[in-house]
Amino acid sequence: MALKQFLSAKPHIAASPRQLELANYFKNQWESYGLDKVELVKYKVLLSRPRTDVLTKVGLKDSSNIFQYQATIKEKVLHPDENDPNIVLPFNAYAKEATVDGELIYVNYARQEDFVKLENDFKLTCKNRIAIARYGKIFRGDKARIAERFNCKGLILYSDPADYAPPGYKKYPDGWFLPETGVQRGTLFLGDGDPQTPGYPSIDSAYRYPIENLTNVLPNIPVQPLSASDAAPLLQAMSGNEVPAEWRGQLANTTYKFGGAFTGSRSGWKAHLEVHNKIEALDAYNVIGTINGRFDPDHYVLVGNHRDSWIFGAVDASSGGSNMLEISRAITTVMQKTGWRPRRTMKFCSWGAEEYGLIGSTEWVEENEKLLVRNAVSYANTDIAAQGNFTLYAAASPIMKQVLYDAAKMTPDPDDPTKSLYDTWLQRKPSADKSQPYVGSLGAGSDYAPFMQRIGVSSVDFSYDFDSGYYPVSSYPAYHTIYDTYDYLKKTIDPDFKYHLAGARVCCNLALAQADDPILRMSVTEYAKTLTLYFNQLASAYEANLNARNIKLDNLRSAINNFTVAANTFSNFIKTIREDQPWLRRRVNNRLMQLDKTFINPAGLPGRPLKKHILFAPSMFNTYGGAKFPGITDSFFMAQTNGNWGEVEQQVAIVVFHVQAASKSLSFTP
Ligand code: GLU
Ligand code: CA
Ligand code: ZN
Ligand code: ZN
Repeated sequence: MALKQFLSAKPHIAASPRQLELANYFKNQWESYGLDKVELVKYKVLLSRPRTDVLTKVGLKDSSNIFQYQATIKEKVLHPDENDPNIVLPFNAYAKEATVDGELIYVNYARQEDFVKLENDFKLTCKNRIAIARYGKIFRGDKARIAERFNCKGLILYSDPADYAPPGYKKYPDGWFLPETGVQRGTLFLGDGDPQTPGYPSIDSAYRYPIENLTNVLPNIPVQPLSASDAAPLLQAMSGNEVPAEWRGQLANTTYKFGGAFTGSRSGWKAHLEVHNKIEALDAYNVIGTINGRFDPDHYVLVGNHRDSWIFGAVDASSGGSNMLEISRAITTVMQKTGWRPRRTMKFCSWGAEEYGLIGSTEWVEENEKLLVRNAVSYANTDIAAQGNFTLYAAASPIMKQVLYDAAKMTPDPDDPTKSLYDTWLQRKPSADKSQPYVGSLGAGSDYAPFMQRIGVSSVDFSYDFDSGYYPVSSYPAYHTIYDTYDYLKKTIDPDFKYHLAGARVCCNLALAQADDPILRMSVTEYAKTLTLYFNQLASAYEANLNARNIKLDNLRSAINNFTVAANTFSNFIKTIREDQPWLRRRVNNRLMQLDKTFINPAGLPGRPLKKHILFAPSMFNTYGGAKFPGITDSFFMAQTNGNWGEVEQQVAIVVFHVQAASKSLSFTP
């Protein structure tokens, strides 16, 4: 059985017996490949499951409290691979166990701007109503939190065909798009790692916050996901005015309305949302495989992927897991054949409980923070190896761009081996000025977040992607559903696994460069260039407004100019280092691997003490999105309602200080 097929043959949700079997499989494989050390690391963490003794119910009840419609909350089996007794029922992790009845209100994608529009333009309120929203555009946990803030008493999420199966496209098993019976599961958690132990590892001696104290990170309303076919009767029963064109989905025979009191033959009806999830502390496992470095064993080059999936998870994330196993096998094979060994230590990390909120990786970062701050060179994340056949998607710390581009230049294009993947990437997904392939900034959404945002380990995340400009979908369509199987992956994404191979080569080339280059290829001039670009974007969006309040960006502008000068001087110095000057190589390497860490503010961002990188953070309104200069933009947003412009001024000063400190960290003058 092919490796991907084996990893995704059975459901392997976090903390399930199958997850432990797979953890042991990774451990045994790595031991058999001859890695120097393999550790199974266990953390007891707070997870959430649908109850099986009493089931979640969603539907419409008449005035006598009798169900006139009840959702199935089940996904139809369309291929024999999906038959398994251990499939977790559709649910949103950590949704509150509660029952609410009320009027429905349609809130589009449940983004901040949707609710604002609903209240300000359409003069409607969510108060005491159950919101129904389509999945897509932003992280679902933010949808739940925003709905709560706008006083919704419950939230129903569903996958609209407009976002997962537009008319005219073939649905699985005939194509890549989502069958109308598919339900996207997923977490609603907005905190960091195990909910009960923020900031510290959930080891036996840990202090655990009581669950009642977690209302700021766990949802306080019931939330449930539905399929398009289960949601259609709810939407069709709604009353009120028709929504504007840009709010309409594409369910057949459905006029999208705002909702409110049910009318006509349904007068007196109520929507019923009854969620039964239980929260429990369970064991999640990471597996860490280490190859000791030959010259710099204390410097760690990390590669990671999550091993848990909601169900079969052939794409998310067994595709990345099989790539990581194959990369480690290739490297150890060369080691055994040639006696070669990388200069630095390599660590391969198979994370548990990512799907619940990056829990395994966050706990490990918390447990090893002191070591990692001193020793980690970089972290490369390969969650989904391939979700399409178009080109590379990447987001990274700017310091990782050069080595990433070089890795892509060394990789043949999977469709045209006469070209490099870099060439087709540049052609298909260029940066705004078309000079380079597009690389985004890191938000959250996968396991790089604790490395980058908490402790400043320079990170990169990539995947072979679909053409998001062409396909109007919010993610690969079978994401977090029962249909994310080996058959789906092979049939609709990558029949020959050539896109997986391309992704594996990029990852392997990048990890090897980081582990073995005498001078790290991390580029400070690229950092300065990107920082200047992001500063210009910040200035054009905010400067006039800030000036009017006498808050100046001039110090920041000159700090970034000084940083650019320092970066150029530093990179010119690197060019002068001779091969017989290993002490100079060490000097520059130490500075390169510490640069992102100089942007870490121990106090964290305003209101987010565990997000500490002052340049990059998950957006406050969409955890998946990357915010730049988040302290400034977040406090600016908050000042519009709380009037605290002093905090904005302080945040500008904090960024100025850190950029100046970063320039100093590149200087060789004692
Ligand atoms: N990757 C998971 C998801 O998209 C977890 C994301 C997160 O918690 O940041 O649901
Ligand atoms: Ca913790
Ligand atoms: Zn994933
Ligand atoms: Zn996922």
